[in-house]
Amino acid sequence: MSKTETHPEIRDAVRKLCTRFPGTYWRGLDRERAYPTEFVKALTEAGWLSVLIPEEYGGSGLGISAACAVLEEIHRSGANGAACHAQMYTMGTLLRHGSEAQKNQWLPKIASGEIRLQAFGVTEPTSGTDTTRIQTFAKRVGDTYVVNGSKIWISRAEHSDLMVLLCRTSPRDDAGKTSDGMSVLLVDMREAKGKGLTIKPVRTMLNHATTELFFDNMEVPAENLIGREGAGFKYILDGMNAERILIASECIGDGRFFIDRASAYAKDRSVFGAPIGVNQGVQFPIARAHVQVTAASLMVDHAAKLFEAGEPCGSEANMAKMTASEASWYAADACIQTHGGFGFAEEYDIERKFRETRLYQVAPISTNLILSHVATHVLGIPKSF
Ligand SMILES: Cc1cc2nc3c(=O)[nH]c(=O)nc-3n(C[C@H](O)[C@H](O)[C@H](O)COP(=O)(O)OP(=O)(O)OC[C@H]3O[C@@H](n4cnc5c(N)ncnc54)[C@H](O)[C@@H]3O)c2cc1C
Repeated sequence: MSKTETHPEIRDAVRKLCTRFPGTYWRGLDRERAYPTEFVKALTEAGWLSVLIPEEYGGSGLGISAACAVLEEIHRSGANGAACHAQMYTMGTLLRHGSEAQKNQWLPKIASGEIRLQAFGVTEPTSGTDTTRIQTFAKRVGDTYVVNGSKIWISRAEHSDLMVLLCRTSPRDDAGKTSDGMSVLLVDMREAKGKGLTIKPVRTMLNHATTELFFDNMEVPAENLIGREGAGFKYILDGMNAERILIASECIGDGRFFIDRASAYAKDRSVFGAPIGVNQGVQFPIARAHVQVTAASLMVDHAAKLFEAGEPCGSEANMAKMTASEASWYAADACIQTHGGFGFAEEYDIERKFRETRLYQVAPISTNLILSHVATHVLGIPKSF
């Protein structure tokens, strides 16, 4: 265990659970682009997906650093938490902004695994990162919202019962600020599927169960509005710090996976009569990856501490996600290079993890947008858009 590791008991237990889901399991799913149902079930039953849900609603009521430890260890083992990580941060929107009745209705069932809240619908094909330009519109008609529009890249929608959905409830031009006039609805997809909701899977370079959604007069009971109508953008932003910190932990786990594998191979593989690792051209990239992942991990711990203390941490969460995703990508590249041709062979799991970790420089927020945030919000440089 490294000196900087938090929550050693949680890490040990998660590592143990992950040994039941070795590379062969993940490779099989990757080939078929299939969902890791058994893995998610095992995590749910062990209580790892509900660590952030308060005890009064059936979770363990731990801080975000505990959830970070869970996700980091999942990724370090060679597994992938993306099939279920959204439950950890999406639930926060309901917890922070939902009514007591909504929390009592849903949170205990989410904690027990009876209900899955894995889908988070924000991105749209035309608006991209410019969220204030989303076009999905929810019109209030009596006790119901009637939703029309579409979303893209909505992951796990086929494997979730509920979705936190961001839509416009007033046109952008009518709102005071462009970020006003958006609202969050909790959509019961079991009810909506085939009745206004169509889910279309999108096949990508990694096994991510992502989809495109179409809403055609989809009806959502008005009682499923979270918080105040028109204030939804703020609620979504509130959840993004948790999302960034948790994803950054997955990157740290990926980075450590690559470093573990590269170090082992550098010691083991002999060419020209000696282990390849004796060559500094082989060992330095691995050492550099270790330095970068260690530094990024401290940044993630720092952001998590601020989050747990209830301090503002938008910049730190963003910087943690950026440094961690770049560190994991550098480590992935070093690992594949260390393995030579074998890095490309499916059975080593490295090419799969290489594809998986690339995502994190784009989603949930791309590096350019983080740099823009730092330049304008932290350094006070004028914004270009
Ligand atoms: C596998 C996968 C899963 C996802 N899951 C979800 C999900 O569950 N729910 C959800 O809501 N979304 C999800 N997303 C969407 C993801 O959050 C977005 O893809 C991401 O935020 C980037 O947005 P975009 O694709 O619209 O890129 P765009 O906004 O179109 O940007 C394209 C490129 O241009 C750059 N760019 C844009 N504007 C600027 C600017 N002003 N300055 C500099 N550079 C700029 C960006 O950095 C990016 O590199 C997922 C995406 C993927 C690929």
